[in-house]
Amino acid sequence: MFNQPLSDPSLIACQHCDLLQRLPELEPGATARCPRCDKELWRRRVDSLDRTLALTLAAAVLYVIAQSMPMLGLTVIGREASTTVIGGAQQLWNDGRELVAALVLFTAVIAPALQIGFMLAVAVAARRDPAPRWVGALLRHHPTTRTWSMIEVMLIGVLVALIKIADYATVIPGLALFVLGALVFLLAAIQAAFDPHEVWNKIEWADADARHAALAAPTGATV
Ligand SMILES: [Zn+2]
Repeated sequence: MFNQPLSDPSLIACQHCDLLQRLPELEPGATARCPRCDKELWRRRVDSLDRTLALTLAAAVLYVIAQSMPMLGLTVIGREASTTVIGGAQQLWNDGRELVAALVLFTAVIAPALQIGFMLAVAVAARRDPAPRWVGALLRHHPTTRTWSMIEVMLIGVLVALIKIADYATVIPGLALFVLGALVFLLAAIQAAFDPHEVWNKIEWADADARHAALAAPTGATV
């Protein structure tokens, strides 16, 4: 059983104070704000889908490089060792720190992969009109993957550790360390370029009859 939609799709409720209001047609780059609580309801991005796709493809390439290259190398009295992010998590697991290992694996490997993968699927599928309905499910879950993707936290942790052990060993920053740093900025750029409002408007409705009823309703009633 589905709810009955309003015939005017430009009506939206503010996420903060629930005030029902009509979204104006925005110029690219302009924002619409709630007149009661001043929350930004929609910012129309310039060329959102193309930019999101380009940035996400770049992020995917950087992610693969970051996970396959060594992140850190250590030289202690002539002995050399280097590790990748996954290798570091594996080492933590072997040392009996299973919880930390699982957290590193989830927040630095799995969640960023889901974040980039979901965004890539959305950016590709949203080019179709109407976009398939599963795009809606990905859009709903994408913020969760973003919350758990903590590459920047891991980087700060690694940098602090680097400074602390610099007195005892020669530390060689690996290529992955720099690539991960670039990836942090790229992921932020994707969020700035992506316009979920534009994608939601294209998604095929779960209840096709309701969509047709809403679209066929007389528009003369709108003010
Ligand atoms: Zn509001």
